[in-house]
Amino acid sequence: MSTNLLSIIKKKISTFLSHEKIDHKLISVFAIEIIKTLKNNKFDAYIVGGAIRDILTGLKPKDFDIATNATPEEVRAIFKKSRIIGRRFQIVHVIKNYETIEVSTFRSPPQNRVKMANGIFKDNEFGSINEDAARRDFTCNALYYDPIDNKLIDFYDGTLAIKKKQLTLIGDPKIRFVEDPIRILRAIRFSAKLDMPLNASLSDQINKSVDLLGTVPYSRLFDEIMKLFLTGHAVESMRLFKEFQLAKHYFPSVLNPQYIDFINQGLINTDFRILNNKSINPGFLLAIFLWSDVKIAWDKNITNHHPSIALNEAIESTMHKQSKLFLIQKRFSITMSEIWRLQPRFDNLNPKRIYRLSGHPRFRAAYDFLLLRSLHDKSLNTSAAWWTNFMSADENTKSEMIQQRNTKKYA
Ligand code: ATP
Ligand code: MG
Repeated sequence: MSTNLLSIIKKKISTFLSHEKIDHKLISVFAIEIIKTLKNNKFDAYIVGGAIRDILTGLKPKDFDIATNATPEEVRAIFKKSRIIGRRFQIVHVIKNYETIEVSTFRSPPQNRVKMANGIFKDNEFGSINEDAARRDFTCNALYYDPIDNKLIDFYDGTLAIKKKQLTLIGDPKIRFVEDPIRILRAIRFSAKLDMPLNASLSDQINKSVDLLGTVPYSRLFDEIMKLFLTGHAVESMRLFKEFQLAKHYFPSVLNPQYIDFINQGLINTDFRILNNKSINPGFLLAIFLWSDVKIAWDKNITNHHPSIALNEAIESTMHKQSKLFLIQKRFSITMSEIWRLQPRFDNLNPKRIYRLSGHPRFRAAYDFLLLRSLHDKSLNTSAAWWTNFMSADENTKSEMIQQRNTKKYA
């Protein structure tokens, strides 16, 4: 880069400096350390995107991304514990203990893309910081913070957008959605997470562009849809997911009016657990989403089959139907099936089976699922209450309870 161009960029940057204060207590010490090291090596480096947005919103960032003018190879050479990942976008993961920080090089606009021999676009053309900012999705995500010089660069009035709770795409939404349709889901997610309503023109463009999601590779789409429900704002995300006809497309079973409360309670519980730093099992939430289909098919099959065979068939037909719409990854579908299959076993009176069930690796999830069901199906209350007492009882009380249960015959 010529010195002349560099000084123009530097001058331009100074006009975008924001006076907003960033609380360093909320920044990862490791991220600051990486930036310090890059700067000591004469590079520019900033914390960028979601982390700064979250801090200015009053939220604790969940991860930190760094943007720099050092190339991936240069970053790799500086940090011993680092690796270059990605083909289309090369980024560097810098690792320390259990923390991984993503370091990416400023990128140029997508027009500069070159098609490689294998047909994949090499989207790795490096650019200046302001070119990099222009490629980012929302104005609130295009904030760059240098924690060494306490410099916050805000090219698109992102800090003001955060204050005003405005979610604004950089550039023309129509073009930006065509460029990368995943931004549609990101718009929904950030609207829910940051309590930023989608304005009429953005909503309109989402409605017009939503079919583009069909062109997004399955695993990227799956991950982004799961993020909607597993990052602490599942209730609002579901509302928007329905509003933009995405529920109809990906999980139509959530639209069954008889299960709205059941699903809503599942979403509330998920958000509550995340808020309290408790672990989340995605399979559990997906089991809730699809339960209406399983239960309806189970009830239908049960007239001419043994209950567990009827349930197995219901699970199979539900999963088959779902796979035609939006396949659920195996690691989750296995958990879902286990949770469902354990449901009738809560009614089994045989002492041996009671112990076997309570030792099952999915017992806790299946029990939580039963509790949730019992909130909306009064016939399950006795069984749910029995299991709640059983779990907190000592060994003697447990055997007494089993004896009593055998004689009383719980339904
Ligand atoms: P969170 O980490 O809470 O999901 P985030 O904004 O940090 O939110 P990341 O996926 O970590 O999201 O991305 C980091 C930054 O990279 C974003 O803030 C944004 O500037 C940019 N970015 C990510 N995905 C896209 C995209 N699809 N289009 C444009 N910019 C993007
Ligand atoms: Mg992030």
